[in-house]
Amino acid sequence: SKKSLKGFFRRNLFVLFTVASVVLGVILGFALRPHNLSMREIKYFSFPGELLMRMLKMLVLPLIVSSLVTGISSLDRRASGKMGVRAVVYYMVTTLIAVFIGIVIVMIIRPGKGSRDSPAVKSGNIESIQATDAFLDLIRNMFPPNLVEACFIQHKTVYKKTVSTRNVTVTLNLTDLLNITDSPLSENLTRVQRTIQETVEETVPVSGSSAGVNALGLVVFSMCFGLVIGNMKEQGHALKEFFDCLNEAIMRLVAVIIWYAPVGILFLIAGKIVEMKDLAEVGGQLGMYTVSVIVGLLVHGLFVLPLLYFLVTRRNPYSFIGGLLQALITALGTSSSSATLPITFRCLEENNHVDKRVTRFVLPVGATINMDGTALYEAVAAIFIAQVNDMDLNFGQILTISITATAASIGAAGIPQAGLVTMVIVLTSVGLPTEDITLIIAVDWFLDRLRTTTNVLGDSLGAGIVEYLSREELQNQDADLRNSVIEE
Ligand code: ASP
Repeated sequence: SKKSLKGFFRRNLFVLFTVASVVLGVILGFALRPHNLSMREIKYFSFPGELLMRMLKMLVLPLIVSSLVTGISSLDRRASGKMGVRAVVYYMVTTLIAVFIGIVIVMIIRPGKGSRDSPAVKSGNIESIQATDAFLDLIRNMFPPNLVEACFIQHKTVYKKTVSTRNVTVTLNLTDLLNITDSPLSENLTRVQRTIQETVEETVPVSGSSAGVNALGLVVFSMCFGLVIGNMKEQGHALKEFFDCLNEAIMRLVAVIIWYAPVGILFLIAGKIVEMKDLAEVGGQLGMYTVSVIVGLLVHGLFVLPLLYFLVTRRNPYSFIGGLLQALITALGTSSSSATLPITFRCLEENNHVDKRVTRFVLPVGATINMDGTALYEAVAAIFIAQVNDMDLNFGQILTISITATAASIGAAGIPQAGLVTMVIVLTSVGLPTEDITLIIAVDWFLDRLRTTTNVLGDSLGAGIVEYLSREELQNQDADLRNSVIEE
């Protein structure tokens, strides 16, 4: 009937706007391409998109802190522990499945077979990051010395060439030196020890930093803070209320920004299409590589994750995904799981009615460490580079790639193209040339959008699954709360 149709439109107005913004963005982008805009003009043109990015990022810091602090402090310790374990198990299992799918697909399609299309350009700005340093950086970033600074700066090891001299003791063997064979001299006499000075050239890891939200540090701090406030009982009440209110207020800001989101997304997408290089260049191996990543992401996002959701909850995964549409499109537009976080919150809480105690707890963590799409892409890219280099990987090396791809996805920040940087860890772990990253840069902006969308989908389905698995604890807690209200 007309009325229900009207109701449907009203309810889905935002979603319709958002979908339309993608379509319009693509059309506008392609329409403007022939005009050969200068970089400056493109920058002006994408300004409304840049504004959306800035608004969303602006909310990330208070949102992560307030949601995690209230989320954790309002759960009792047992419940939060159980929920945390469930979330982490879900993150690990799905990330490993994603890596596995990626490996199988890239092995079947073999996008890198045949002689390489183009020699890799030796690039000066890709440093040879060592896996150990990258791992230590991950831990360092969990403990930012300055919480406010952590919102803008991430620790990143950089390398410095140093030249130093050191004393070394060398043993000279006189017998060899003088070429005396069958010498009657004793061993002691033939060996002379001398100290000489040697110059050593070394690249040493030094402290460095790169711009970007260090969400990991905020997450760790907020979780600890939430736990402490939860334990403080009565005393911590005021702080709990404060963060609760802050969270509510931020979500209200999100409700305002969401009206602007379609405009921003339109310009973000159109601007990128105007800016991108000619598609004709993306042929051959790179084209097949792109197809492999896309197929992998589709299999994981449209079949495997929904199947898992269905198996656990016995609910329709696709109607759940329908409620997430806006978050998914925002991820597509922004290439950043962190920037999308405010919208993800809103979709899960408003459309899918996931319990706030769950979303507040698992979403900020998920957006920071759970990146199925990134893990899948890292594995595909590493094996693609091996294929291009005609390097046959044995089982051990493939296993190493699976593990490092998972680690690299955890270490990647939820910001645009972070995965490209952590790719270095995967490549060095199996001895692949890091400068070959340049082979895949041309298509990375596009794959980044798709993998970010998969990342957000994984986090959201995870929240649904964790909520279902934790229903007992949540009900118990509700009952406790009711009892205490009655007692009062
Ligand atoms: N852009 C991705 C994200 O925010 C990370 C990546 O580069 O893979 O989820």
